[in-house]
Amino acid sequence: MDCIFCKIIAGTIPSKKVYEDNLTYAFADIDPKAPVHLLIVPKKHIPSLAAIDTADTALVGHLHAIANRLAAEHTLSKGYRTVINTGADGGQTVDHLHVHLLGGRQMHWPPG
Ligand code: 5GP
Ligand code: ZN
Repeated sequence: MDCIFCKIIAGTIPSKKVYEDNLTYAFADIDPKAPVHLLIVPKKHIPSLAAIDTADTALVGHLHAIANRLAAEHTLSKGYRTVINTGADGGQTVDHLHVHLLGGRQMHWPPG
């Protein structure tokens, strides 16, 4: 499959791994937008949040639990932001569901 994140999960594209389990892979974003910028992805190829159904609810919750755990490991005790961009208007550029974990600086609202 021609999917960058599936290739990262398979190891054919290198990445800086920070976490892995049977459902999940997490790695450093190649173009970080904050001092900590990690991506948490399901190993299963799901194109976006728009493609999930009720069978995936536990998986989507798991991605967030791992984001929280990684935030603690990266000492983001003052807070952090999780983001899922969905579709063209949502700013999604890689069509494999991913949670951004951003932290280490003050975040602003509203996002651009
Ligand atoms: P999106 O714009 O789809 O929400 O987020 C995609 C993210 O993937 C971007 O933040 C981008 O920097 C990151 N990214 C794209 N290609 C690669 C890659 O080959 N390796 C890594 N580590 N991150 C990537
Ligand atoms: Zn994929």
